[in-house]
Amino acid sequence: MTTIANSLQAVRQRIAQAATAAGRPAADIQLLAVSKTFLAAAVRQAYTAGQRAFGESYVQEAVEKVEALNDLPLKWHFIGPIQSNKTRPIAESFAWVHSLDRARIADRLSAGRPSNLPDLQVCLQVNVSGEPSKSGVAPEDLAALARHVLALPRLKLRGLMTIPEPTDDPVDQRRAFARLRQLLEQINAEGFQLDTLSMGMSDDLEAAIAEGATIVRVGSAIFGAREYNKE
Ligand SMILES: *Cc1c(COP(=O)(O)O)cnc(C)c1O
Repeated sequence: MTTIANSLQAVRQRIAQAATAAGRPAADIQLLAVSKTFLAAAVRQAYTAGQRAFGESYVQEAVEKVEALNDLPLKWHFIGPIQSNKTRPIAESFAWVHSLDRARIADRLSAGRPSNLPDLQVCLQVNVSGEPSKSGVAPEDLAALARHVLALPRLKLRGLMTIPEPTDDPVDQRRAFARLRQLLEQINAEGFQLDTLSMGMSDDLEAAIAEGATIVRVGSAIFGAREYNKE
């Protein structure tokens, strides 16, 4: 087995154990393999090991990879910050967007989504830690943004996503993820039917699964340490 196949198996095992600990079926948690900064060949290895859903953060790099791998039946998820001049390639190349946090970007994704493709599945990114520098809609503005997105054609509002402030303390990790789950419950109580909580990465996926994650976004635990940062 390749290193990537081994690592994928180890991550799947972590997910299964965390699901069992939380009394949840492991099948309710989808693994998104975050391949940003890694070559198409690495994605191919993960595909051979059974992985189908991949996450990317940088538009230019992602579009090239999607093109290079268009012989494979992959599902691409965009998880990075979205600039308004990059909405069209995102709307054309991806099945999901996790990082929507502004009405204007939602309008542009909706307008740019080709009508021959299925609706673009979207999660709203929420800033649960309240750091002013972070992307994500503030919790108090979430319901208004959700109503806006719900009214747009060619977008299907699925749920919420967060990237909490990194911390090694499992109690703090769980607190941030619990906050996102509570926001989902609140908004569903207002009549929405969101089914997706995109939360948890290589270092905190157990805490996220304990709080109800349905998609975990895992990069370095599968592909290794990222050697360069394009941000
Ligand atoms: C890079 C990235 C990940 C993966 O992070 P790892 O710590 O490598 O697992 C997950 N989510 C987002 C939004 C990212 O940008």
